[in-house]
Amino acid sequence: MAPGPDSDHDAPDGDAGDQAERQMRFLFALRSRGVTDPRVLAAMERIDRGAFVRGHFEDRAYEDTPLPIACGQTISQPSVVGLMTQALNPGPRDTVLEIGTGSGYQAAVLSVLCRRVLTVDRHRRLVAEAEAVFRAQGLTNITARVADGSFGLPEQAPFDRIMVTAAAEDPPGPLLSQLKVGGIMVVPVGQSDAVQTLIRVTRTETGFAYDEMRQVRFVPLVEGLGQT
Ligand code: SAH
Repeated sequence: MAPGPDSDHDAPDGDAGDQAERQMRFLFALRSRGVTDPRVLAAMERIDRGAFVRGHFEDRAYEDTPLPIACGQTISQPSVVGLMTQALNPGPRDTVLEIGTGSGYQAAVLSVLCRRVLTVDRHRRLVAEAEAVFRAQGLTNITARVADGSFGLPEQAPFDRIMVTAAAEDPPGPLLSQLKVGGIMVVPVGQSDAVQTLIRVTRTETGFAYDEMRQVRFVPLVEGLGQT
């Protein structure tokens, strides 16, 4: 039977076409903002940011913009996730600690690139929601915990890499001490809530080397556990 005038027989192609175009734009935005590491681009192609954004903002998940999530927090801008991941340079055998699970998107991108991700947030609700997305997406090498990340996770230390996705006045001492020699930490640092400098810290045999990367805007690292 010939398709009638209101047949939707070409809709699946249309959807697949839209999705491919959206993906192309997403990757183009990342590249044009300096995310050039092919491993990072492949990881970000694989993890669907749409799975980590809920409610009103769902349809903006593929734009290169930060978006609000629960508990007054934000999912970072994709190009900033890309640049931070690139700077962290995790290897396939690495264990990575992330401070600030938020939506879980950054942890998911890291999980494609390393052996294991431990991620902590001070909000129970964010940890529970992120865990549900990790399960739904089949990301089995991520462990999420409710904890004050300023103290790191001493019982699991030391780490090959530490990613801090909330702004600190200085790189927190406990996190520096939980980094392996040769390990790298990426952390937004600054006195102001409005703008901070992204720093890459490398632990050497004798101390720490600091590289300033660029200006960023993150929510602050807050002491203690959240109410929810
Ligand atoms: N990486 C997240 C974005 C993080 S937003 C993502 O990909 O979506 C910053 C997060 O840091 C928030 O969820 C906030 O609750 C958390 N946070 C702030 N201070 C913290 C602390 N001391 N310990 C653990 N998490 C903290």
